[in-house]
Amino acid sequence: MKVTINGKEYEARQGQTVLQAARDNGVYIPSLCYHPKTGPAGKCRVCIVEIEGARGLQTSCTVPVKEGMIINTESENVRKAQRLVVDLLLSSGRHDCLACEQNGACELQDAAYRLGIERPTFTLAPKEQTDNSAEFVFREHAKCIQCGRCIAGCNATVVNEVLDFGFRGHDTKVICDDDVPMGSSTCVQCGECVQLCPTGAIVDKLPRGKARTWQLEKVETVCPYCGVGCRQELHVDRAANRIVRISGVEDSPVNEGMLCVKGRYAFDFVQSPERLTAPLIREDGGTFRKASWDEALTLVASRFGDVVKKHGPDAVAGLASAKVTNEENFLFQKFMRTRIITNNIDHCARL
Ligand code: SF4
Ligand code: SF4
Ligand code: SF4
Repeated sequence: MKVTINGKEYEARQGQTVLQAARDNGVYIPSLCYHPKTGPAGKCRVCIVEIEGARGLQTSCTVPVKEGMIINTESENVRKAQRLVVDLLLSSGRHDCLACEQNGACELQDAAYRLGIERPTFTLAPKEQTDNSAEFVFREHAKCIQCGRCIAGCNATVVNEVLDFGFRGHDTKVICDDDVPMGSSTCVQCGECVQLCPTGAIVDKLPRGKARTWQLEKVETVCPYCGVGCRQELHVDRAANRIVRISGVEDSPVNEGMLCVKGRYAFDFVQSPERLTAPLIREDGGTFRKASWDEALTLVASRFGDVVKKHGPDAVAGLASAKVTNEENFLFQKFMRTRIITNNIDHCARL
């Protein structure tokens, strides 16, 4: 269908909202509570626009496009209202961008910048509590704009059902279970709430203070942990040759941005000085010494050969791993069946 946005005609698809149609056509409308995964919420009111024939301003994330619709996203009226909403959100929190982990990747900061807000007009008492009780996730209520994305993600996407809004009015805040610290709650530290939060209210704990967002290069890869094959983005500090954080790739059909606690946070092994980087051969007496791959593989092959010669091929069994690729697992079963000549092949299936 055809719609007109700011006097220019664009294509739109049946079922799209005004916000989606505008975004697909490269027209900027600030929005905070909408996320493609959690859907339209209509909570934050930042995405308001004028639609010809409609009474008052409309939240573009909740209104479906219609053939011939005439939309204005940048009239003075619209901009004034958007500015007031963002101004109030900023005023009711404590937004010290200089020290914030989300600086440079914050949707609230972006909206304020694009709407030309230099500093908040009002001062409303922010909620000063922080929650540092969990292993991998840090929460700061003063930066929460109560958009509900973390709650929708926790309940409907990863279905862990930990988060909800608690209390009323000015005291409203995101709580874990019955308002217990995250570290004592039923939270499994999957980090989906971190991934969905548009501000610095819920952040990964490990990277805090390690690097600014713009210093990190994103490198896409597949999680090395299990056979699901979640796509993830490594946020790499090239200068320090270090992975600083990991996030899920939203358009991956396998995991849609979700990761488990291992995939998102258990990457310290990469830089561990205790990591094995060469094969080790156990000497008589039990101590290990470093060996070349050729030496180690020759030794293993000859020992397998001895066992097979003495006890037959079924004396050997192979246990494959979920940590390697399908292709490697395929090769491994071929090796067991065609070289050792046994069907004793199994898989750990999980870690
Ligand atoms: S949450 Fe966003 S706006 Fe608030 S301090 Fe952090 S970067 Fe700034
Ligand atoms: S880390 Fe996962 S389980 Fe815990 S609150 Fe966030 S989304 Fe829910
Ligand atoms: S913590 Fe983040 S995602 Fe959750 S309601 Fe607050 S701003 Fe929104």
